[in-house]
Amino acid sequence: MKTIVFAIFFILFTGVTVNAKEMTDAEIYEKRMELYKKNEAATGVPWFFIAAIDQYERSIRHVRDDLPKPDGIHGMYFEPEQWSGPLNPDQEDQSPLSISFFHGMGKDGNGDGIADRENEEDVLYAAADYISRYGVDDARVRLALWNYYKRDKTVGAIMTNAKIYRTMNRIDLNERAFPIPKGWNYTYHNTWGDRRGWGGRRIHEGTDIFADYGVPVRSAAYGVVELKGWNKYGGWRVGIRDLNNTYHYYAHLSGFADDLKIGDVVKPGDVIGSVGSSGYGPPGTSGKFPPHLHYGMYKDNGKKEWSFDPYPHLKAWERLERKK
Ligand SMILES: [Zn+2]
Repeated sequence: MKTIVFAIFFILFTGVTVNAKEMTDAEIYEKRMELYKKNEAATGVPWFFIAAIDQYERSIRHVRDDLPKPDGIHGMYFEPEQWSGPLNPDQEDQSPLSISFFHGMGKDGNGDGIADRENEEDVLYAAADYISRYGVDDARVRLALWNYYKRDKTVGAIMTNAKIYRTMNRIDLNERAFPIPKGWNYTYHNTWGDRRGWGGRRIHEGTDIFADYGVPVRSAAYGVVELKGWNKYGGWRVGIRDLNNTYHYYAHLSGFADDLKIGDVVKPGDVIGSVGSSGYGPPGTSGKFPPHLHYGMYKDNGKKEWSFDPYPHLKAWERLERKK
């Protein structure tokens, strides 16, 4: 009897859910990839779409108070009523049969007979199964995502993740680069929230990195180019969204890297343009202030987007690169 009780305890607390806290980052990425590939095999949905949704959900849970923090292998989260079905009297239902009867999204992905909202295999299978009902090309996946999230920006962020994963063919993409390469002179201070030196009434949303005209500007992270062009205040600027649903904004450029276009996947360290003093006037205006890179960071949590202080991140990336 004691053995049986122990065995059940063992399965419940160690066997079923892998304890992510005791795994190295490399092990976590390996386990995640294994799950994505397994679900691709089971549902026909390419792994990079499953990975993209999972990563989007993980990124918003880190910055949302109304959602539990992700603590395991998976990031995907279902509310009880989404999982069990809105009219299901048992919101904690784990029976695949009655969940299906009440049109819940809950699924049994690991074949243990229960649909467990906390189990990574069940949760990822439920997401992949939902997508598979629409189809597996970009347009159908977009439609599936829109019907689920009802928000264009969210659909865009997930498709961005998918494009990065698909292009890089891996998911361990946490590397970062300081926007100015080593060997060039530059200076910057923490100017977050200062009154703008040049026009504008809003507070200063970013860090100004002063450097000479033509000094290369690089992407800080893996991402997709979301914006490239002119605006009155930013001048020539580039916007790149990364896998954490963080938007990186590079402004006042003197020019763009050759061939850089909207939709391109970039890697940390890829040159995207060069330092300049464009902006504050009609297209082409420059020289109204000393040349510098205005670098801004914006976070989207699935409901709204806001700017946050890039200075501590810049300092950390600079330190890391000096150690290399
Ligand atoms: Zn600035």
